[in-house]
Amino acid sequence: MSNQIPVVIAGAGVTGLSAALHLAEAGVKKILIVTGSSIPTSMTAPGMLSGGQRDNFTRVAAAHQTDFAKTIWLFGDRAFDLTANWARNQGVPFSNCRRLRLIATPEELTEATIAVREMNAAGFTSQILSDKKLTASPWARALGPRILAVQDDGERGGWIDTHTMCRKLRLAAETNPAVQFIDGTVENISGYADPDLSVTIRGPESQSGDKKLQTIKTSSLIAACHLAIGDLIPSLKSALVSSADQWLSTSGPLDSIDPQSPWNTPGIAWSAFHNHEWGATQPNGTILLGGGRILRKWAGFEATESKVEAKISKYIVEQTKKSFPNWRADCEPILEASGLDCHPCDELPVVGPMYGEGRILVATGFMGQGLTLGFYSGFCLAKLLMTGRCDELPRRLWPERLRSLPDQE
Ligand SMILES: Cc1cc2nc3c(=O)[nH]c(=O)nc-3n(C[C@H](O)[C@H](O)[C@H](O)COP(=O)(O)OP(=O)(O)OC[C@H]3O[C@@H](n4cnc5c(N)ncnc54)[C@H](O)[C@@H]3O)c2cc1C
Repeated sequence: MSNQIPVVIAGAGVTGLSAALHLAEAGVKKILIVTGSSIPTSMTAPGMLSGGQRDNFTRVAAAHQTDFAKTIWLFGDRAFDLTANWARNQGVPFSNCRRLRLIATPEELTEATIAVREMNAAGFTSQILSDKKLTASPWARALGPRILAVQDDGERGGWIDTHTMCRKLRLAAETNPAVQFIDGTVENISGYADPDLSVTIRGPESQSGDKKLQTIKTSSLIAACHLAIGDLIPSLKSALVSSADQWLSTSGPLDSIDPQSPWNTPGIAWSAFHNHEWGATQPNGTILLGGGRILRKWAGFEATESKVEAKISKYIVEQTKKSFPNWRADCEPILEASGLDCHPCDELPVVGPMYGEGRILVATGFMGQGLTLGFYSGFCLAKLLMTGRCDELPRRLWPERLRSLPDQE
């Protein structure tokens, strides 16, 4: 790789910044990050962390077979570990305790029982706490009668201070001599028949209303621009489905009666009712609550914008009260936010080189897990670019699997 021709990265969220830092670490001397014109989704994500996948193992196995479910679960676990190690080394506030799935219906219990069996057979830690086992566990005392059982996936849950994570990543890139930032958006890619690609970058609007255009030669382009990858690489557009979601941060603790309750430990990431409700315990005694997409039109899929909806906040709070009756009921949100996330049509992240043009690499579609999966994908793409292979990145995540989708051009 030439030291004169830069690697260009489109997007300065967790994925783009991680790719830049891992490339610099591997010895690339010239990296240009084009920042984009909107606030990265990474900056507004609340910071719940899960290993494996957000969906239960059975969902992934049903869609992609058990062998591949094991592979993608491992990818999620490794992403969790890499992000956790980086956070600890960088002093980013991070708590790690448990990943728990609260089971509210008999159908979920049947599914969770199969999921645990399949996970154990695949070598992952998970157990079902139900009936006497649940009653005897320290988790039971704070739970309402709504919760029939708990699937405990072990220490694969956590919380990270997203704002500090993004700030530290950005600072590390800004102070790395190999990395330069350009304000603007990558608007066009050309030069496919040339030794180097060309990217056209549109700068921010000047006071006179002009937007400067510049064209830069690049050895490779990493597209880390979330949903906007579909605008840059039209053949991926129909594969990337938007989904609107929202969350709030509010006062805790979950168990105000028993200060020793394990539910008052920071770093528990839980979900309930098939992931329609989710949350995490934060270090300052506050809690993070999210979900309620089912109350949106088409469950939030294909939304073009995402707003905080009062009825959804109310739903999230009401459901949490049912799960945790000892939670103080008078809490107002400290912070509320919403955003659009990216769900690939086949519910697998899209990470790897583009078919037909290996100099363009993409990473998106992390379905609520981008803080870890985006960070890890940045590492994987950097390794792939530098060494020509990355065994940690399952080939089935490469965009080549989407080749038969209709082009939107
Ligand atoms: C409401 C909500 C809650 C979430 N909660 C969590 C959570 O708790 N935990 C978790 O792990 N994940 C969560 N996620 C998912 C996570 O936020 C994303 O997966 C992750 O932030 C994606 O990071 P990214 O770097 O790929 O993209 P982004 O952070 O979106 O960065 C992409 C950047 O690319 C820029 N850009 C766009 N077009 C161009 C272009 N043409 N040229 C150059 N730049 C461009 C944009 O301006 C943007 O700044 C949540 C998502 C939402 C919406």
